[in-house]
Amino acid sequence: ISDDHIRLHDVPQDCILAAARWGARGARLAQLAALGLPVPRGLLLSTELTARIAEDGAATHLVGDLSDVFASLGDAVLLSLRASPPKAEWGGPEALLNIGITDDRLPALEARVGRPGALELYFRLIEGYATMVEGLDPEDFENLMADQVKYWSVASEGELPEESRETLVDQAKALYLDEVGEPFPQNPAAQLSAAVDAMARGWNGISARILRESHGAPTDAGLALIVQRMALGIGQGVCGAGVVHLVDERTGTPAVSGRFLPQAQGYDALMGMRTPHLITRETREAARQSAPSLEELAPEALTDLKAHSATVAAGLGDLHGFEFTLEGGDLWLLDALLSPRSARGAVRIATDLARNGAITRDAALLRIEPRTLIEHLHPQIDSRAPRDVFGSGLPASPGAATGRIVFSPEEAMQAEAQGDNAVLVRMETSPEDIRGMHSACAVLTVRGGMTSHAAVIARGLGLPCVVGAGDLRLDLRNRLVISHDGRSFAEGSLITIDGTRGEVLAGAPEMIQPELDGAFSTLMSWADQAREMGVRANADTPQDARVARGFKVDGIGLCRTEHMFFHEDRITSMREMILADTVEDRRRALATLLPMQRDDFVELFDIMRGLPVCIRLLDPPLHEFLPHSREEMHDLAEAMDIPVSQVTERAKALAEFNPMLGKRGVRLGVTMPEIYEMQARAIFEAAAIVNTRNLEQIVPEIMIPLVSAKREVELVRTKVEAVAAQVMTERELTLTYKLGIMVETPRAALRAGDLAADSAFFSFGTNDLTQMTYGLSRDDAGRFMRDYVNQGVFTEDPFHSLDIEGVGELLLIAARRGREADPDLVLSLCGEHGGDPGSIHFCKLAGFDYVSCSPFRAPIARLAAAQATL
Ligand code: PEP
Ligand code: MG
Repeated sequence: ISDDHIRLHDVPQDCILAAARWGARGARLAQLAALGLPVPRGLLLSTELTARIAEDGAATHLVGDLSDVFASLGDAVLLSLRASPPKAEWGGPEALLNIGITDDRLPALEARVGRPGALELYFRLIEGYATMVEGLDPEDFENLMADQVKYWSVASEGELPEESRETLVDQAKALYLDEVGEPFPQNPAAQLSAAVDAMARGWNGISARILRESHGAPTDAGLALIVQRMALGIGQGVCGAGVVHLVDERTGTPAVSGRFLPQAQGYDALMGMRTPHLITRETREAARQSAPSLEELAPEALTDLKAHSATVAAGLGDLHGFEFTLEGGDLWLLDALLSPRSARGAVRIATDLARNGAITRDAALLRIEPRTLIEHLHPQIDSRAPRDVFGSGLPASPGAATGRIVFSPEEAMQAEAQGDNAVLVRMETSPEDIRGMHSACAVLTVRGGMTSHAAVIARGLGLPCVVGAGDLRLDLRNRLVISHDGRSFAEGSLITIDGTRGEVLAGAPEMIQPELDGAFSTLMSWADQAREMGVRANADTPQDARVARGFKVDGIGLCRTEHMFFHEDRITSMREMILADTVEDRRRALATLLPMQRDDFVELFDIMRGLPVCIRLLDPPLHEFLPHSREEMHDLAEAMDIPVSQVTERAKALAEFNPMLGKRGVRLGVTMPEIYEMQARAIFEAAAIVNTRNLEQIVPEIMIPLVSAKREVELVRTKVEAVAAQVMTERELTLTYKLGIMVETPRAALRAGDLAADSAFFSFGTNDLTQMTYGLSRDDAGRFMRDYVNQGVFTEDPFHSLDIEGVGELLLIAARRGREADPDLVLSLCGEHGGDPGSIHFCKLAGFDYVSCSPFRAPIARLAAAQATL
């Protein structure tokens, strides 16, 4: 292999040419040739050589080779010259075809393709050459053609008589002479040399440079060139140009599509005026076209194309279609085109390639972008459907759903009862909206960020959700949603939430339904074999747990128990507990909650049989559970048989300036220990029930939230141990359990060495940890996050993708200090970042045992964990 130039067919099969030197197309053609496929013979000129030619001219560098080329190829052979940039998207000059026609060589060409065909090619060469080499206007040549069509009164240029074609060649030569001042060159090697010069110099032109740099090319990007024997596409027998794809882009399953234009050359012809023919009989019949398909014209060509595609898949490790030419029935491949594919198609293609041995399973796993698995899990708007977008916000929970606008959780429940789909539209959601969210098919809020209440719950439910849609206005008095350009949508209007893109659309576009079996489940099973890190789910309800099991998680990593108390049948007892004046009253209220909590846990343990379940003790400030409206306060006073004033006063007393930094998490456990005692009892009694019944024994994990000091853990631990001992005595059995903490305050991270002594595990709550590290409210950041990302303050929303530099360092410090104190300490992450591939990678590097994420993100996490291992 010379540095300068190389013959396509001289490249050995195990040698992959560098695209930076030989261009993407050149390198690919050499591979095809090495695989023994029918590629026209040719020569590659390297980027360095092209650069030198641009300086000194081709004649200096190539003169010997160029005259040799024609001399060695015979009289009737024509050449093509194509640009081969290192990346196709960088563009490059158009190809020049049919180089080598001269008056002297015309008869030999006529013998091959007939006189009209030869004349047509001659005209096209003069036009192309004049345009590329001499900078003439192609329109002048097209006008000559149009005049002939008019003169002979024919419908198209294809019907022009031979006489007219002779005239056209003469006119083209005359035009050339007129404009250039010299006759059209009659030496084939001189034609090629001038064309090579023009292409090499054209690459350095200002407009070409600006264009490719706008597509990401570096300033010193080079251009390689390909000189190849022309496959004519015109002449006797079946001749023509075509493009074929052999896989269905949307599903990744085998399917033939494409176009074929008889008596034509090059890809451009397919974009031209004549309607191309289809490839298979079936597609032709479906399209009701009468023009015969390629399959009917040349069945063996289609058979060969399929076989060549299989050869390329095995040789290049991916599926390709082809740009091809038929010359007298002979098939020539002009290029291999990587088959385009949707996210779903990509999974099918990768698993099929691995099954056929074209690539390894690991390569298949690495080829899929984990985030794109979302397209398998939720209904999506069909990419071909028109989109009438009237609002946008943050893509808080993926998938799409169509329903009628409702403005309250009650209306969502009513709609569900009537079998209607409702989109719950709120300013922002509060914990009481959970039931309404369960009943809605999608959620839209005007305020809130990626970890706002609505977003977290929606992700858990797999409900499409857009939050922080600040360009929409709610007119609640008139029950309208108003877009920034003044369109209004009344209650009951049909809208669609696209939670994948963060868009709100009018009407009901076509949807594509999820698909979880087949290639998807194959890929996931390979991921599970490859990964070393566990993936658990954040699951609060039996429904979540069932979804999580369906997604084959390794357990529950976070059960937020507060969500169990918002249920209609419990909220009153919860509120009585909160409003209690004395410890006795509080214990009484808690006693009514105990059996309900126990039943919750029995159900969870049953669903998760044999898998670990980590339950977090109550976390939110109690104020969140109290009613907000006067009406609800009234109802509560009545239910408790106390004056309304007592309810309002108590609510006022509980209100905090900074509830997220107030009396919540373990601070509740320390100041009102009876709450955690009740929860611990519910957990142990449930474990006792399930363990007596089932063979698989549950080892409950109990997790203390918002810890910042060792003493907090000691206090809670003592109480929990006492309850465990009581339950074991009462039930006459032994229970094993683990007690651990959430590391979600910076202090807990820094004091990890201390805290590890009392904890079997650390689970990093990176939502709170991010909030506290930045001093940035997770519920309010959405309002300005876009500005911050746009202005480059954050590269990404740190609530979405872990801030490796800052929060990440705290994680590393805590992991190191914790493991130094206790090498067996189990480490995990259960914030929203547990479903983010980049963050998962970080956890693997940091030596974590598992991540925990919302059930619908579990497949993404499983694949990301596998990739982090590979
Ligand atoms: C966290 O803070 O990361 C966490 C998992 O807990 P929550 O989101 O419930 O505060
Ligand atoms: Mg938290």
